[in-house]
Amino acid sequence: MLNRPALQSVLTEINALAQHPVTLVAVSKTQSSATIREAFAAGLRVFGENYLQEALDKQAELSDLPLEWHFIGPIQSNKTRPIAQHFSWVHGVDREKIAKRLSDARLELNLPPLNICLQVNLGGESTKSGVPPSEVEALARQVMNLPGIKLRGLMAIPEPEPDAHRQQARFRELRLLKEQLVSHGIPLDTLSMGMSADYPTALKEGATIVRIGSALFGARA
Ligand SMILES: *Cc1c(COP(=O)(O)O)cnc(C)c1O
Repeated sequence: MLNRPALQSVLTEINALAQHPVTLVAVSKTQSSATIREAFAAGLRVFGENYLQEALDKQAELSDLPLEWHFIGPIQSNKTRPIAQHFSWVHGVDREKIAKRLSDARLELNLPPLNICLQVNLGGESTKSGVPPSEVEALARQVMNLPGIKLRGLMAIPEPEPDAHRQQARFRELRLLKEQLVSHGIPLDTLSMGMSADYPTALKEGATIVRIGSALFGARA
């Protein structure tokens, strides 16, 4: 169920802290299509999903609504074609091979370039997904001219960090990395960072996309 007062306070926080237009991606993984309908009625248009089959099922049930879908989960290379077909954005790209397959699929399907973010594994994260900061620029150069994708920016999922100062330092690291790439001639306009527990801090560091689930829909089962 959508928590409407919680949505209001998220929107209020975004308005108060955002330095530029920010896209709220409502993370609807494990939520029913009825809940997504409720969220649409409350004004939300952009939804993030992690699991392909679950997303495809809900997209089919919601095909009457003008929704924008972002794929934010891990990407298996044998799933790149349906991902390219059914999503407008893919946030977790961390290998050239995946970017190339997504690009090829968009071209074959005659669809406009797919928006992608490179996932960065910021210092201290134990997760295995994401490219290390030192390798982001090389990967960006490998994928930026692929004709079926549009490289938009960087994405990260920092581990929960109770210390606000250290939390902000992680997001700053991603922002500075993006600014460095831009100064080296790689035109990026997107910082996808901030989830329910830390999005205000991410906004202070210049997030352009926040991905928020449990703050809107309650804890996932
Ligand atoms: C689940 C998920 C989110 C949302 O997390 P919440 O803590 O529920 O806001 C955001 N980004 C990614 C990549 C996720 O997997």
